[in-house]
Amino acid sequence: MSGTMMTQALTTGSLIAHAETYHAGTEVVSVETDGTKSHSSWGEIGANARRMKSALDTLGVSDGARCATIAWNNRRHLELYFGIGAGGRVTHTINPRLTPEQMIYILNHAEDEVLFLDRTFLPVAAKLGEHLKTVKHYVLMGPRDDEAAQTVEGLLFYDELLETGDAATDWPDLDETAPAALCYTSGTTGNPKGVQYSHRALVLHSIGGNQPDGLNIAARDVVMPVVPMFHVNAWGVPYIAAAVGSKLVMPGPHLDGESLARLIDAEQVTLSLGVPTIWMGLLAGLKATGIKPTSMKRTVVGGSALPPSMIRDFRDAYGVDLIHAWGMTETSPLGTLNQLLQKHDRLSADEQARLREGQGRPPWGVELRIVDETGHELPRDGETQGELQIRGHWVIESYFGQDDSALTMDGWFDTGDVATLDEDGYMVIRDRSKDIIKSGGEWISTVELENIAIAHPKIANAAAIAAHHPKWDERPVIIAVAAEGETPNETEVLASYEGKVAHWQVPDRVVFVDELPLGATGKVLKTKLREAYGNILLEEV
Ligand code: ADP
Repeated sequence: MSGTMMTQALTTGSLIAHAETYHAGTEVVSVETDGTKSHSSWGEIGANARRMKSALDTLGVSDGARCATIAWNNRRHLELYFGIGAGGRVTHTINPRLTPEQMIYILNHAEDEVLFLDRTFLPVAAKLGEHLKTVKHYVLMGPRDDEAAQTVEGLLFYDELLETGDAATDWPDLDETAPAALCYTSGTTGNPKGVQYSHRALVLHSIGGNQPDGLNIAARDVVMPVVPMFHVNAWGVPYIAAAVGSKLVMPGPHLDGESLARLIDAEQVTLSLGVPTIWMGLLAGLKATGIKPTSMKRTVVGGSALPPSMIRDFRDAYGVDLIHAWGMTETSPLGTLNQLLQKHDRLSADEQARLREGQGRPPWGVELRIVDETGHELPRDGETQGELQIRGHWVIESYFGQDDSALTMDGWFDTGDVATLDEDGYMVIRDRSKDIIKSGGEWISTVELENIAIAHPKIANAAAIAAHHPKWDERPVIIAVAAEGETPNETEVLASYEGKVAHWQVPDRVVFVDELPLGATGKVLKTKLREAYGNILLEEV
């Protein structure tokens, strides 16, 4: 054997080991479930994670077992990411906003052996208890709590469990293709499906997704993931922060704009990540408190379409650079991030902002293509739209517990999104294939119609849906929520479409509602809206 290089398994244990060795003194700040703030460090997080691994061994939890969490973004949850996953088991994060039926389905399907819970979710556990077939241990994420002990039989307490563990435990040697984490899609249609992330996928995602044109998180950053840890690994931030040793700020349960504004100010956050509704809340919170987020350099936004004005709102008022990103549970999640190329330096600030409204381009490690209904690749001309497909190091191959491949015959994953791609790989989502409106055989982008409605000063939020139509098959209808104190009428909202879209794309109706139905990940449930308003145009004929 000569001329070879070392081969080391790409494991999540190597990430936390790095943080513990080289960034032991770097702070991890956490807002706990009771609202208090705790100050810890990567050194303590690493030691506690190893204690937890050892405690789970002592408790008799099997190697490779799924251990579930229902918890906010906080210190103990971070320790569990590594204590469970890097320790050779699988961290199964569960979205607390799912219905009890969905949670029961997921916990039984994953055959979780342990369920870790924040105090907030204790009533949920008490309710689910008798339906869960495999959970042997319930652990409350906190110190001993006698009142809580009475609600769940045999309840264990995180802090006591930790004391039974040995901080000198080493991370085990694992196969890099072994699973480290599990997350179910929210299942707006059918049962939720599990996506299991291998160590290798998570490590490559941490490197590939954190390049300078990606998240670009450095040791000197103070990172606040507002995106929940139960939503696709908080977009990979806990792993990435460990890999680079940045200070982390875990915001806990209070995600309203004012609480976040105060936390950003107190901890001097430089970078934060979350869905558009969180940043709408933050903009309002900054206004209400008068806080200027002077430390904040960048905000990453994704998960659903970005209101076009948001990039400008953050830039003009606060000098914060908003980075638009796209991804899915099935892609770990980073699929694209929107950063400019050198040739874009020539563009005006407004032209650059417009380009950055799109979802961006793929980092090294993933590839994108668009195809027609027969699977033929479509041109990357920035105009032709087609079904978006992805492949790469951190993309799903098959769902948890399913033998069939989740991929096309030639090895790509069909995202269910409809998008355009240009020659540089810049991708713009036009729709989800199940939401698209097909009027007289022509596609109409719901995203475009929604953006125009939301830009109307009297409208707070809007969703475009396909309503059945006797002549055109489907026609667009806008379901809108009025801005506070406003009473817009249909005519003035429809007037705002003039000159912005072709006349046949102008919606047929605007229906005003008090609020839009939201799913577990905060996205508008268009299925519900179609059920309620899908026949509205038929009734009128
Ligand atoms: P679910 O499919 O249950 O909503 P995911 O969280 O995996 O769960 O959502 C992935 C989907 O979210 C993508 O396929 C896409 O439709 C949408 N999405 C994610 N990021 C963006 C974005 N930046 N702009 C528009 N849509 C987005």
